[in-house]
Amino acid sequence: FVIPQWGEFCSHIEDFFWASKALTGGKIASYIPQLARFSPEYWGVSVCSIDGQRYSIGDTNMSFTMQSCSKPITYAIALNELDADTVHRYVGTEPSGRMFNAIVLDYNNKPHNPLVNAGAIIVSALLHQLVKPDMTSSEKFDFVQQYFSRMAGGETVGFSNGTFLSERENADRNYALAYYMRENKCFPEKADLTAALDLYFQSCSMDVTTESVSVMAATLANGGICPITGDQVLQPAAVRDVLSLMHSCGMYDYSGQFAFKVGLPAKSAVCGAIMLVIPNVVGICTWSPPLDNLGNSVRGIKFCENMVSIFNFHRYDNL
Ligand code: GLU
Repeated sequence: FVIPQWGEFCSHIEDFFWASKALTGGKIASYIPQLARFSPEYWGVSVCSIDGQRYSIGDTNMSFTMQSCSKPITYAIALNELDADTVHRYVGTEPSGRMFNAIVLDYNNKPHNPLVNAGAIIVSALLHQLVKPDMTSSEKFDFVQQYFSRMAGGETVGFSNGTFLSERENADRNYALAYYMRENKCFPEKADLTAALDLYFQSCSMDVTTESVSVMAATLANGGICPITGDQVLQPAAVRDVLSLMHSCGMYDYSGQFAFKVGLPAKSAVCGAIMLVIPNVVGICTWSPPLDNLGNSVRGIKFCENMVSIFNFHRYDNL
């Protein structure tokens, strides 16, 4: 086993869980009712090792939508189906230093990276237009959902139509971003802007649990092979690129500080989830809806920081 003393490891996870549970700060996202109605009490942590050992504590079977945790996954699909050169003709690899939904492009007139909204919308356009151009929209949705599901080893990946409809109705900023990007020729030829946005909202609306997201994270930690099924879902080169950008751009405007303090690839989302990858060891998902003023889960951040204060998982701990 990659972690031979699994029981002891999990008792530390349990300590971190209780330490974070005591925190009460933060605000729940309220721009759509499907997020606003979550209780601030919900708190769950799931861990899945690259050799399939599991541990979960708290609200780990409650479903929530992936929101921005879908961005590294759709980016991974694009890399796996196309190749890095093709994908990065349309999207950069640099932290934006700006809000995740800012209307801003880099100096090449491309979105800064695939983990901000602008970049994720372009990735959706690539999936829609370059990956499976002959499929109908419904087949493209199924194709994307099946990838998510394979990464999760067949565990919970549903779809929240309520969230999808709300996202689409409250998407002035995302529409503005898409039109701005079309004006700047960011999309592939003959872009179907509405279809790309729909696929983006649908990816954000995938319904998951901390359990299923921990398996997705473990698939990333394991170089693209799902530790539960043994299915090679992604090529290692695609996973390397995804983890590199999660490391530098995954935690909104806390990304630099997170890379410094925690030193691990992670992606945060407005639902209060954090998908954390400890390469070659475990995948972790934490979920607690109250967010700090940078948009990261208050309890989740504390959990990650406590974790590296006890274990030497920081990228530069082992020197
Ligand atoms: N659906 C949200 C949006 O596009 C995702 C936000 C997030 O999780 O960062 O604004």
